[in-house]
Amino acid sequence: MSKRVNDLPRSRLLVNFKHKFMKNKQELIEELNTAFEGKTPEEPLKYLLPKYGKRIALASSLGLEDQVLTDMILKIDPSSRIFTIDTGRLFPETYSLIDRTNMRYDIKMEVYFPDHESVEKYVVRNGINAFYESIEKRKECCRTRKIQPLLRALSTLDVWICGLRQEQSVTRTGIRTVEWDEANSLIKVNPLAGWSEQDVWNYIKTKNVPYNKLHDKDYPSIGCQPCTRAVLSGEDVRAGRWWWENPEHKECGLHRRS
Ligand code: SF4
Repeated sequence: MSKRVNDLPRSRLLVNFKHKFMKNKQELIEELNTAFEGKTPEEPLKYLLPKYGKRIALASSLGLEDQVLTDMILKIDPSSRIFTIDTGRLFPETYSLIDRTNMRYDIKMEVYFPDHESVEKYVVRNGINAFYESIEKRKECCRTRKIQPLLRALSTLDVWICGLRQEQSVTRTGIRTVEWDEANSLIKVNPLAGWSEQDVWNYIKTKNVPYNKLHDKDYPSIGCQPCTRAVLSGEDVRAGRWWWENPEHKECGLHRRS
């Protein structure tokens, strides 16, 4: 933390934080990024979790990074909110991971589902696997099954925590620890922004964090079952996601960047 932030009593800090945020959000984002520079990923979590209570949550895709953050967050505050989205097309191994995570930490992860009428309309109009036919149809499926339930979850928040890392893909190299998410009018926190894949695995192994068994079968990045395949040796970690598309299109819209 910067000296300026650290010197304030906790109650004043919160008032100051909100006031400054309303006044100049970009200035505050810069100040927080400076304060957290070179710190552990737990620092932004320890700072923000008590301030936002039920208005801050981890949006978990159940990937390795999100499992690391689940462990970190629940060790700071066992009552913290963790939510995930069940698109209806997940791997059986992913559903099993939800159960194992709940049991390990004695929690009930929040699970958001898509609106059934929207899914039915999409399927009737396009077919059950239409996402293979065009980028537009793939994005519409992601919008219906992932983004709409995500927006419903985000509407309950002021801050969302994500497991994004700069190394993950060409679309994520500019990620910072704290960002202003203009599209959703929220603070977005990426505590693992600067971590390498090795850092993530080291944490998972040393803390014995539950993870998706598919990671041991050459699935470094796991999404919906029909849109994820194993990668070959030497391939990019996200090569198995929407593998039929070009790398610059490989986002589902959850993490749009301006
Ligand atoms: S990843 Fe595939 S199945 Fe899942 S929501 Fe997107 S297009 Fe649909």
